[in-house]
Amino acid sequence: MTIHRIKQVYDLYDEVMSGLDFACKKGCAHCCTCNVVLTGLEAHFLLKHLGPAERKPVLQRIEDQFPPQRYIPKLTTNDFAKACMAGGAIEEEENDPTWGRCPLLENNACTVYEYRPFGCRSLMSRQNCAKAGYADISPLTLTMNNLFMQFIEHMDQEGISGNLSDLLPALSAQGIETALKEGRLISNHPIPALMVPPEHQAPVQEIIARLEQIRTA
Ligand code: SF4
Ligand code: SF4
Repeated sequence: MTIHRIKQVYDLYDEVMSGLDFACKKGCAHCCTCNVVLTGLEAHFLLKHLGPAERKPVLQRIEDQFPPQRYIPKLTTNDFAKACMAGGAIEEEENDPTWGRCPLLENNACTVYEYRPFGCRSLMSRQNCAKAGYADISPLTLTMNNLFMQFIEHMDQEGISGNLSDLLPALSAQGIETALKEGRLISNHPIPALMVPPEHQAPVQEIIARLEQIRTA
């Protein structure tokens, strides 16, 4: 799997969302919490494009502002889809935005904006979160987000996922095995079935075909 396909997936998402009306704009960073999760492929993409000189301050920011309390996922998106198909109870995971800001946020702007993970890109709210008190994401956008996340994980199915503050330092310091053993990172999986409800099947068919094209190119 080559890293450049991640950029194609991000570009496709931007294209799909470009005609819709969102409140998100530069300087609005209520959603930039320490709970952001990404795949290893996305982390490689981010680190590769930063280059060695820019990488150092980014890793330093994480070290200096490491969030002691942060969302540490137990299930990837495809694990979640598999668990839903099995029909058993799914344990709710703790994820609280008040745990803190993302270490990569500076003056309400993302220091890695161009290369930010899909988890950040996909927070597209119809109302300003600070005013509404929550992110107002339409059901169709949620379906699209799940779809893209399932494909991104599928493209990195031999890889890992985790919180940005765990994954970026672990990748840079060759600490993946330790972080996996400690439960701070988890293994990715292929798509067991796409999480698309019946009412969204028609609007997403073309997007699924284009994601397939990127994946198999
Ligand atoms: S998701 Fe909410 S806080 Fe984040 S940029 Fe959009 S409106 Fe602002
Ligand atoms: S990586 Fe950037 S966009 Fe994502 S949460 Fe952190 S500051 Fe916000």
